[in-house]
Amino acid sequence: MRIVLLGAPGCGKGTQSARLQKKYGIPGISTGDILREAIAQGTPVGEKAKTYVTTGALVPDSVILDLVDERLEQADAQAGFILDGFPRSIPQAEGLDGFLTKRGWKLDRVLKIDVQKKAILERMTSRRVCPGCGAVYNVITQPPAKAGVCDKCGSKLVQRDDDTEETVRKRLNVYESATAPLIDYYDGRGLLSIIHGDGGIDQVWNQIVEVLERAASGRSGGGR
Ligand code: AMP
Repeated sequence: MRIVLLGAPGCGKGTQSARLQKKYGIPGISTGDILREAIAQGTPVGEKAKTYVTTGALVPDSVILDLVDERLEQADAQAGFILDGFPRSIPQAEGLDGFLTKRGWKLDRVLKIDVQKKAILERMTSRRVCPGCGAVYNVITQPPAKAGVCDKCGSKLVQRDDDTEETVRKRLNVYESATAPLIDYYDGRGLLSIIHGDGGIDQVWNQIVEVLERAASGRSGGGR
């Protein structure tokens, strides 16, 4: 199964990606996670990406495309993957087409998770992450048992530098101008399904399962 998760920052791609990884036994590939790791380790890619990531701008396509091509080469990606946060621009989508073609692969489905802007702003500014194990919380809807402490590993939770209100607004603008055109790009290829993302995690998940089952049985997976 090869899936792209599309949608504005904070729409729930990471959460649904984790469920899809478990269901299909395939890796999630999040370019945001790869970049944050590179920044934390101070690698040359991390140094190049740092300013873009902290200000909510897009890292140049060439840097991202090299990272993804390298990641797709790894053994665990050969049986499928969930792309989360990539592609984020038309040149990245075209680059991905090239990576798939050269490996004789095709995307099964592009799932666009739709969430209202107001809800996104609220979700993202209340998001907290665990620097120890990567677990994600929300101080309003999914708080940890003990405030500020990770349930899973006990580390102190932090707010991502780019989850402040000002940067989230910027990221939403970047999404509208650079990433939203991908909706028509994949719709035109018959790959797009719209998932209504304003409900709870389970409600969103149920729609995803239904769309993928429909697509697998040869009927249209489309919700559009
Ligand atoms: P995310 O965790 O997907 O929200 O990504 C966090 C930040 O990493 C973004 O605001 C960008 O600065 C950068 N980033 C992640 N994925 C990409 C991508 N595919 N293209 C360009 N920049 C990206």
